[in-house]
Amino acid sequence: MQVLLLNNTYEPLKIISWQKAIILFFKQKVDIIEEYENKLLHSERIIFKMPAVVRLNKYVNIRKYQNLRFTKENIFFRDNYCCVYCGKRYQKDQLTLDHVIPLSKGGKKTWNNIVTACNHCNNKKGDQLIDQMGIKLLKKPDAPPTHTYIHFYIKLQTIPHQWKVYLPSTA
Ligand SMILES: [Zn+2]
Repeated sequence: MQVLLLNNTYEPLKIISWQKAIILFFKQKVDIIEEYENKLLHSERIIFKMPAVVRLNKYVNIRKYQNLRFTKENIFFRDNYCCVYCGKRYQKDQLTLDHVIPLSKGGKKTWNNIVTACNHCNNKKGDQLIDQMGIKLLKKPDAPPTHTYIHFYIKLQTIPHQWKVYLPSTA
């Protein structure tokens, strides 16, 4: 079973295993705020319900949890499979990654400099800077927020009903 870990502010941070949740609970780092009704845990002396949602006792800096892997697939996902230059949505095989500031001009491989572009726009742009071409990015690239990260990992699998109230949108 998986457990939703919330920040002290009730903001969702990440999904952890129930084993990890129990360890955090016994270390008094989290409170259990939702449980799975029909799942019981047995230890030598006690029986209790499996945690579904736990909340940290102390606030943690959210940046620490922004560890969505920096991959092609995740960048497409962040950009909603749309080219950041023409705004059109494409199938994966028609999309490429583009360095906003080209590598040859000192651009880096970071969330802020790599965007989804269609083959057409990418070819047109080539090694040029967008300012020189008079084109604009339709949105500023950034690392996805943590709730996007959570949605990404659970994708369209069934989200436990105990989690729903803590997630911004489960569409
Ligand atoms: Zn395009």
